[in-house]
Amino acid sequence: MGDASPHAAAQDRRRIIFLGPPGAGKGTQAVQLAAFLEIPCISTGEMLRDAIARRTELGRKAEPIMALGGLVPDDLLLAMIQERIREKDCQRGYILDGFPRTLPQAQALEGLLSGDLSELVVFSMEVPRDELLRRLAGRQRHDDQGPAVHRRLSEYDERTVPLIDYFCGRTRFHRVDGHRDVEAVQHELRSLLAPR
Ligand code: ADP
Repeated sequence: MGDASPHAAAQDRRRIIFLGPPGAGKGTQAVQLAAFLEIPCISTGEMLRDAIARRTELGRKAEPIMALGGLVPDDLLLAMIQERIREKDCQRGYILDGFPRTLPQAQALEGLLSGDLSELVVFSMEVPRDELLRRLAGRQRHDDQGPAVHRRLSEYDERTVPLIDYFCGRTRFHRVDGHRDVEAVQHELRSLLAPR
């Protein structure tokens, strides 16, 4: 049995972060892993899209930025995440999909965790650029079309890639080959979390 059982996972508090470019499959993998571990999956992209749909103040600020493929300001993201991870369902841990995406966000998260990154597990999903473009072209989301896609990829290169160095060595950090079928990737993630 190579996979960690949810019951073993219940003993500790799991905090898992997915890094990776748009189209790498973070969301798909994060949702499946969260269901397996019985912890919430917190997707900042989904939360922002929900704020836009509900026409909240945050949604009104985020909408034009997201439409162009830019990153929403750190202070807005931080307030949103801070409130979310204080909720009761996060007590046993959580998966973050899409946060942190910038160095100030990572530093703020470290502050929220009282400076202790040792419990964190970070998965960096890696997929070749031509495959990302192919996948994004096949999705129907508004910001997956046109120049917004290129802007999102360059935001990733410039502002999120530095987080790989930031986390590597300070957390349990794993590079994961995302250019495989969904099941193979999920199997590897579970194996990486299994107690040794
Ligand atoms: P993907 O992972 O495919 O790029 P997401 O659904 O995670 O897409 O995010 C969509 C958009 O939401 C981003 O392009 C960005 O505008 C905004 N967003 C999500 N998370 C963050 C974040 N942590 N910081 C700033 N902007 C964010």
